[in-house]
Amino acid sequence: SVVDKNRASDEQIEALVEDSIRYVWRHGVSAAATRTGRGPLAVSASGVYVTDMDGNEYLDGLSGGSAAATLGHGRVDVADAVHAQMTTLHWVSLRTFINEPSIELGRRLAGLTDADLQTSFFVSSGSEAVESATQLAKSFHRARGNPGKNMFLYRKTGYHGTTLVGASASDNAEFRTWFAPLAPGFAEVDACYPYRRPDHMTEEEYGDACADALEATILDIGPERIAGILAEAIPAALVLVPPANYLRRLREICDRHDILWIDDEVFIGIGRTGRWFGFEHFGVTPDIVTSSKGITGGYVPLGAALATSRVMETIYGDQASGQAKVSGHTYAAHPTACAAGIAVLDAIEKEDLVGNAERVGEWMIAEFARIYADHPRVGDVRGKGLLIGIELVQDAATRTPFPRESGVGRRVMDRAMENLFMLRATGDVITLFPALVTTMPDARAMVSATCRAIDEVLSEL
Ligand code: PMP
Repeated sequence: SVVDKNRASDEQIEALVEDSIRYVWRHGVSAAATRTGRGPLAVSASGVYVTDMDGNEYLDGLSGGSAAATLGHGRVDVADAVHAQMTTLHWVSLRTFINEPSIELGRRLAGLTDADLQTSFFVSSGSEAVESATQLAKSFHRARGNPGKNMFLYRKTGYHGTTLVGASASDNAEFRTWFAPLAPGFAEVDACYPYRRPDHMTEEEYGDACADALEATILDIGPERIAGILAEAIPAALVLVPPANYLRRLREICDRHDILWIDDEVFIGIGRTGRWFGFEHFGVTPDIVTSSKGITGGYVPLGAALATSRVMETIYGDQASGQAKVSGHTYAAHPTACAAGIAVLDAIEKEDLVGNAERVGEWMIAEFARIYADHPRVGDVRGKGLLIGIELVQDAATRTPFPRESGVGRRVMDRAMENLFMLRATGDVITLFPALVTTMPDARAMVSATCRAIDEVLSEL
C-alpha cells in the first residue's frame, strides 16, 4: 500500500488526493466536491470501523457508506470462500457453461422465504438488477401476447440506480437534466410518505389514498400500456415505512390490471429490515425482486433479479417457441461472486443476523424515539430493523420543514464525519443503516454519536 497507516506524510497525502482528483471519477458526490473535496482516504477496515490515512477510526453507521457491508469489514470466512473459488474456477461465461456456485446460490435465495421467487437472474450491480427486472417484465407481457404493455411506473423520491433505466425511473432533478434525454416509457406516481400525510387522515386512510391515486394514474395512462411498477417495499432513501394496508392494495391493483410489481430490494433485502426481504413485513409477494449490496456483503459485486415461477415459466415457454430474447452479461452468474454470496448467507444464518438486525434495530429506533419524544425540531423517528430515519424539521408541532438552503441534514452528516461517525442525510432525514453484525455496545455508540451530531448542529442554528 502506498499509504502506511499512521505514517503517511502530508506530502504523500496531498499527492494522493491530487491523483485521486485527476485519475478517479468520484461517483455519488457533486462535481464540485470531486474537484475540491478531500474525502478521507480509507486504508483498512475491520468490523464496524473504517480507518483512514491519518489513523482515524470511523464508526460505520452505514455498512461501508452505501449499505453493502452487511457483515462488517474484513471477514476472513468470505475472503476464504472467494479465494477458494478463484483458484478453482474464477469465471467462465454462462453462455458456454453453467456453474455450481450460481446454482447453489440460486437455490438458497429461492428458499429464503415462503414466496415463490424461484429463479435468479444474476448480474453485477443493483442498477443492472433493476434493468434486468424491467426486461423480464417486458418479456413476460410479450410472451402473453401483450407487447404493448411496456411502460413502468415509479414513485417520487425513490431510487433505482444510475443506468438509463434507473435514472429514467427517478424524479431526481440532476438525473433528469444531466442525463436527458431519458428513456421513454416511465411515468411518475407520488411517494407514500406517512409522516407527510394530510392532517385529517389516519395512516390507514392515507395508505388507501395512496393506492387510489396509483390506480387513478394507471387508468389515466391505460393499463394496457403498463408492464410494471418499480417500488421498494420500504423506500430506503427517506425510510418510508408504508401503512400496513398500502402494499396489499398495491398488490391487488397490480393483479387487477395485469401489472408486475418489481420490488426493488437492492438496499433493504438480505436481512436489513429484520426479515430476509422487506416485503415479508406486509404479507404480500412481489412478482420480481431485485437484490444486490447485502447479497455479497459488499465483498465482491453481485446483483440479482428474482422472479416467480409464474413469470419465468411464461418467459421460458415463449423462449422454447423461439420468441423471447433475454439478454446476457459477460459476468452473469459470476462463480466467484456467487461463492461470496453463499458464504454471506452461511454467515447470516449461522449467526442469526436477521434476528440480530431486528432486535438491535428495534432497540435503536425505540431509543431515538425516547430521546427525541418532545424535541421541537425532531419531527419523526421511524424505521424497520437496521434501517433507521430521523426527520429534522423547523417546527415539529406543525411539521414545517427547514428552508432548503439551511442544509441542516448535510451539516449533521458533515459534523458526524468530523466526529468520526458515518451517518447519511437525505435532505433533512438523517439515516442510519449499520451492518447486521452490529452489537448492542456498537448500537449504543451509534445512538450517542448520532445524537451528538444532531444536537450540536441544532444548537448552533
Ligand atoms: N436500487 C436501490 C433501491 C438502491 O438503493 C440502489 C443503490 N443505492 C440501486 C438500485 C442501484 O444499485 P447500484 O448502485 O449497485 O447500481
